[in-house]
Amino acid sequence: AEADEYREKIAKAKCPKEVEEKALKEIERLEKMPPSSAEGTVVRTYLDWLLVLPWTKSSRDKIDLTRSEEILNQDHYGLEKVKERILEFLAIRKLTPKMKSPILCLVGPPGVGKTSLAKSISRSLNRKFVRMSLGGLRDEAEIRGHRRTYIGALPGRIIQGVRTAGTRNPVFLLDEIDKMSSDFRGDPASALLEVLDPEQNSTFTDHYLEVPFDLSQTLFVLTANTLHTIPRPLLDRMEIINISGYTEDEKLNIASRYLVPKQLEAHGLSKDVFTLEDDVLLKLLQGYTRESGVRGLERQVANLCRKIAVRWVKQEWEPHTLTVEDLESTLGAPRYHFQAAGKSPEIGAVTGLAFTEVGGVVLTVEVTPLPGKGRLTITGQLGDVMKESAQAAWTFVRAYANQLGIEEDFYDRTDLHIHVPEGATPKDGPSAGITMATAIASAIAKRYVRHDLAMTGEITLRGNVLPIGGVKEKVLAAHRAGIKVVVLPEENRKDLEEIPENVRKVLEFHFVSRIEEVLKLAL
Ligand code: ATP
Ligand code: MG
Repeated sequence: AEADEYREKIAKAKCPKEVEEKALKEIERLEKMPPSSAEGTVVRTYLDWLLVLPWTKSSRDKIDLTRSEEILNQDHYGLEKVKERILEFLAIRKLTPKMKSPILCLVGPPGVGKTSLAKSISRSLNRKFVRMSLGGLRDEAEIRGHRRTYIGALPGRIIQGVRTAGTRNPVFLLDEIDKMSSDFRGDPASALLEVLDPEQNSTFTDHYLEVPFDLSQTLFVLTANTLHTIPRPLLDRMEIINISGYTEDEKLNIASRYLVPKQLEAHGLSKDVFTLEDDVLLKLLQGYTRESGVRGLERQVANLCRKIAVRWVKQEWEPHTLTVEDLESTLGAPRYHFQAAGKSPEIGAVTGLAFTEVGGVVLTVEVTPLPGKGRLTITGQLGDVMKESAQAAWTFVRAYANQLGIEEDFYDRTDLHIHVPEGATPKDGPSAGITMATAIASAIAKRYVRHDLAMTGEITLRGNVLPIGGVKEKVLAAHRAGIKVVVLPEENRKDLEEIPENVRKVLEFHFVSRIEEVLKLAL
């Protein structure tokens, strides 16, 4: 009777011929086994998987661009270019429904809305949504499953996700693809390639299932903080959409229109309990967060809601518009002060701008000369490229000592220690070259460096300044830190147009092609 039930299920499962045959064969095996045998259980579990998967079931795409645009705007403030890009993508889906789905990859710092954009895409397409985090994943079997000969074997997480979705064309979010690693248990990246590659994924075979599942209608959306760690073959198949950090203005809008109402509701509060006006919100974001995205800001708003909810329930709260004093009495003293950059001019300390996984950051390069013989010590968790760049800066300063107004034989008597604090964040890349050269020059010539100035640029041995990446992120970070003057390579002049008008207006920019120009500005 059990076997007959399974046969009925096959008829209902609308599966491909191959799957049907496989299932029938397993049912025959089951019939020959004693009912309570362990092996019988294994076969039943297998059949249950096989017969519940959405082999042919799809949700119907509802592509109505006006509606999609509305949904994207409902869920997210700003992000004009990103939304435009998504709409283009949807339009093309509509025109060529049979075409294989490209793989979208949203790249940007934490908390800029990558995960939540992927959700909006599914909503605007009217498709089911599943999410799988790849962070820390190192075992290939997580993706492709274990063979049935293993005790307790199960399908991999791709098939599990499809089962959860219940359709074979969900929006499948693969979160944090840059945090995947590989070890002796196999290379998940190559397994993932089989999942993503439109040439291969119509016959994706999970080790457990043993029969191919057609993933070609699934829309994969990937997210990453950085592209550096993504294997080339994967990268080649993705359509990258960059999302950069938010300006203060954008954050204010996001907070007042989205985060605050969302958190009020989540905490069972309303505008009748308290309101947050922009001026206080600004203090909240300046004093209690320092980030490219809005995750920390959302957390602080949630904090505020929790604390106020307690007082409200205890009837110790009179409804009112929050003041700065309210912030301090609920969240404590502000953690950040607008002036993060050095308070007064210093010798041997220069503010640089870097582009890291968490977005743009300001960092200080410190240089101290010691009596010695021209040796160079470099500390602060710097990557190889950055160390080489320090070497180049050092060589340049030595070679050009004369022009820089430094005694030419100084290095016979001097060792240098270069340090870039905040050891917890690994730093790499050549873009601190001019910052290190300036710090060295300042330390040796004992000249003060302007403290409200920040710089970024690669340096060559002959003192030319080469262009760098991440200009927008870096400039936003400078602005967050209260910097007034920003020095950039001449060839990055064109990137200025990416920077929001209101930030561009308040900063003073200098474009340089020689290190001498940098020194003139900074020292
Ligand atoms: P991570 O890289 O850390 O995973 P993420 O980019 O995936 O970060 P999300 O989790 O999508 O970040 O966003 C964090 C929070 O900020 C979410 O609640 C999201 O809705 C909100 N958010 C981000 N950007 C916007 C925006 N432009 N408008 C409205 N809300 C936003
Ligand atoms: Mg995310």
